[in-house]
Amino acid sequence: MPIPTASSAAPSPAKSLAILRETFGFAAFRGAQGQVIDHVAAGGDALVLMPTGGGKSLCYQIPSLLREGTGVVVSPLIALMQDQVAALTQLGVRAAFLNSSLDARAALATERALAAGALDLLYVAPERLTTPRCLELLDRTRLALFAIDEAHCVSHWGHDFRPEYLQLSLLHERFAGVPRIALTATADPQTRTEITARLALEDARVFVSSFDRPNIRYTIVDKVDPRAQLLRFIRAEHAGDAGIVYCLSRKRVEEIAVWLAAHGVPALPYHAGMDNARRAEHQDRFQREDALVMVATIAFGMGIDKPDVRFVAHLDLPKSIEGYYQETGRAGRDGLAADAWMTYGLADLLQQRRFIEQSEADEEFKRISRAKLDALLGLCETAGCRRVRLLEYFGEASKPCGNCDTCLAPPETWDATEAARKALSAIYRTGQRFGAVHLIDVLRGKANERTGRWGHERLSVFGIGADLDEPTWRGVFRELVSRGLARVDHGAHGALKLAEASRAVLKGEQRVEMRRARVRAPALRKRRRPEENFAPPEAGLLGRLKAWRLDQARAQSVPAFAIFQDRTLEEIARCRPQDIEALSGVAGIGAKKLERYGTELIELLWTPN
Ligand code: ADP
Ligand code: ZN
Repeated sequence: MPIPTASSAAPSPAKSLAILRETFGFAAFRGAQGQVIDHVAAGGDALVLMPTGGGKSLCYQIPSLLREGTGVVVSPLIALMQDQVAALTQLGVRAAFLNSSLDARAALATERALAAGALDLLYVAPERLTTPRCLELLDRTRLALFAIDEAHCVSHWGHDFRPEYLQLSLLHERFAGVPRIALTATADPQTRTEITARLALEDARVFVSSFDRPNIRYTIVDKVDPRAQLLRFIRAEHAGDAGIVYCLSRKRVEEIAVWLAAHGVPALPYHAGMDNARRAEHQDRFQREDALVMVATIAFGMGIDKPDVRFVAHLDLPKSIEGYYQETGRAGRDGLAADAWMTYGLADLLQQRRFIEQSEADEEFKRISRAKLDALLGLCETAGCRRVRLLEYFGEASKPCGNCDTCLAPPETWDATEAARKALSAIYRTGQRFGAVHLIDVLRGKANERTGRWGHERLSVFGIGADLDEPTWRGVFRELVSRGLARVDHGAHGALKLAEASRAVLKGEQRVEMRRARVRAPALRKRRRPEENFAPPEAGLLGRLKAWRLDQARAQSVPAFAIFQDRTLEEIARCRPQDIEALSGVAGIGAKKLERYGTELIELLWTPN
């Protein structure tokens, strides 16, 4: 097939905008979407780096509609294909999928539709695509483009590596002239280089968006009683919302899920140790239901395509900023206000350090892991804007955001020089063999079996720190370790030791400023933009709209968001459109949905209940 050039039959920007409005019901492109679409629709290759929720799907869906033939979308997320196809079908787009979940007869029907030119979009699993049967089928098909979604799966180093992705370079050889667009939300430069090389995209135009997620509010609080802190956070900010709670271990996942449920928060566990059927069931329920909290290990990851996850909470510290960004990024894909909330304490730090030191990896790998962890600790300890730190790590400069805990309530700092000296003295006097819990007992003069057994009650440091409370001391030890002013002996159950840098503090040559401990997020309840707060009558209306949506979703066996996203229902509740004409102006209502649901919605809006 000849490569269409921009000047010949290239679809015009006016056409792409018309499709955006008509089919998808959106008024304007976001960020680079318009440029990407025009470039690909004109036959160019593209590499698109855009954060989660940035709107990557439209970048290949609209060119597929503009160009002749079928757009083939390679995606590793088999579990989601069906939902994506359902959402497109709701919009009147002719879409189907091919993967191992289909029986032979259904697969055959899809293959026939493809060959007959009756599909705008076909989603295919990579292992399916690279079979001879599928390739031969595509040989006989008019192709609009190839979209390679989650393109970072070609990278050996990321944890989403998929060997089948390496074979996708054959698309370029076998189907020369069919434009290819690779998309990912992975921000780091190494991954980008690998994608370009492995998919032979050297000539592709690269579109890099800002990786900022302005609607996500970042909050990191001191860990005191994490379960109670989590519950308080959910009750105060996210009652009735869908969210994800990440924990490090499977055991803890199970515990927290049971505990939340017992306290009235509908929650389900998810981890790699569960049997497949139960895991799939939980994922499916999370995806489809309105207000479930998934308590999970990081095994719950790439397959999450839910637009209305309102919060991601970390009860344990991730390994790196990359991990933190990726996990928190699952909140607020729909662009509405969302929270990334984490509790963090000394034990987290010690645990992650121990993982590194005790792993079998080589020294180089350990060195990189330590540096990554340190960068994350810097983010946790900073008294400056969290977002500035986060973006800086990905090479992006920005200004204080006004939407993170430290911007909203700048942390108080205090002169901790004396406290640091006392803490280091306590480490030294007790022989550098004890962890923070015991050291705090000694400093606070809390006599117990251990202080007695070791003769620590007779030491000069016993009780010299009674003026500070326990959370403050915990903060002191945590900051000493995270700043390298003390170190941890991982061979000796996390005993704290003096470090080279301790000397200057002990001798009183170095001043130490610390953040005051903070266990609650600041400014609770003030978070939402005014238009997101519903006065009672509209709130009732929104409730009715959601109930109607759930009925529709159940009747058609599609996820609720495929009918209408929250955003659309909220706008309807707010504006109460008078008629079909007014309804058509609401974001997310395209021609097909208007035709299908318009009358029913107007009736629901204007009949008294
Ligand atoms: P990504 O794949 O980059 O995470 P999606 O393609 O799923 O993002 O889009 C994220 C959300 O933004 C979806 O709810 C989608 O409907 C919405 N969206 C995308 N583009 C636009 C736009 N131009 N106007 C309004 N909403 C949009
Ligand atoms: Zn900020």
